[in-house]
Amino acid sequence: MLLRLRPALPPEQLQAVLELARELGYRPQFLDERKTLLGLDGHGRPEHRSRFEDLVGVAAILDAGGATELHERAGRPDTVVSAGEARFGGGSVSLIAGPCAVESWPRLLEIAREVQRHGATLLRGGAWKPRTSPYSFQGMKHDGLELLSRVRAETGIGIVTEVLDPRDVEAVALVADVFQIGARSMHNAPLLVEVGRSGKPVLLKRAFSATLREFLLAAEFVLAQGNTQVVLCERGVRGFDPTTRNLLDVGAVAHLKRATHLPVVVDPSHAAGRSDLVRPLARAGLAAGADGLIVEVHPDPSEVHSDGSQAVLPETFGAIAADARAIAALDGRRVVEPSLTAVER
Ligand code: PEP
Ligand code: MN
Repeated sequence: MLLRLRPALPPEQLQAVLELARELGYRPQFLDERKTLLGLDGHGRPEHRSRFEDLVGVAAILDAGGATELHERAGRPDTVVSAGEARFGGGSVSLIAGPCAVESWPRLLEIAREVQRHGATLLRGGAWKPRTSPYSFQGMKHDGLELLSRVRAETGIGIVTEVLDPRDVEAVALVADVFQIGARSMHNAPLLVEVGRSGKPVLLKRAFSATLREFLLAAEFVLAQGNTQVVLCERGVRGFDPTTRNLLDVGAVAHLKRATHLPVVVDPSHAAGRSDLVRPLARAGLAAGADGLIVEVHPDPSEVHSDGSQAVLPETFGAIAADARAIAALDGRRVVEPSLTAVER
């Protein structure tokens, strides 16, 4: 590992750096006369980088050496996350679709059948909704979970649903194939630890204003619990122009595919905030290397209580799925199809 220390460090700060280095089993050696470049010889571990970053005397980690964090690519092959029939990463692309929130049994069943027919292997739908206002619809909660459990039994489609509170992880785990951690919860370390402990796949959404380092360290909280099944989700960051709800960070998708071995999916719905832009943003995300999409779909957006303006019709989702097959094929990847017979389609 190679550290850059602040110049002219007071002796106690210098001592703190050297002591931590020795405690972690390194042999420290200064590489310059001013004592600002400190080489650490020894076996790095994932947790070492943050330990040094926390010290006031350390200006930067110039090279983490063997102390690679768990999310880092570092020559590792793609991690493939499997949930139900879906597979993300390693050349497999999967589609998640469904309503923003679970609102009624007939609609949920209808949407599940429609998105499955068009190529979704996972159904999304929130039972708990993280809303900006406490007066907005907060979701059906346990009743919503019950409907998700029924729709799974009826159609065989896997379930992606959000968990907001660490106390609900156990209940949600009984129904979900994938936990969704929403943008507003990305910084909730106790929640990340709890879903990490569950061992179930986690779809982690990037917070509106999170840097990629913050996003990856949120993933690290889950990985550090021994849960390798993490899917990163780029859903747009806060921009300055209200024309779109958020700015889809396509560069982040391309970067994450290089910097980590974790699969990345794109949420074009929350990025756009408008149904007419969902399909082009989905295309852009896949072209940048995304291993999947999560799309809000509803046959009658006028009746929904949250995010109606960005819901696309089932046939538009069908067109997005067709785009996905074509774009994935461009670089030898494949969209994983639900196991319906040709006749059922
Ligand atoms: C959602 O998926 O409906 C949602 C609330 O998304 P986000 O957390 O990205 O805002
Ligand atoms: Mn939504």
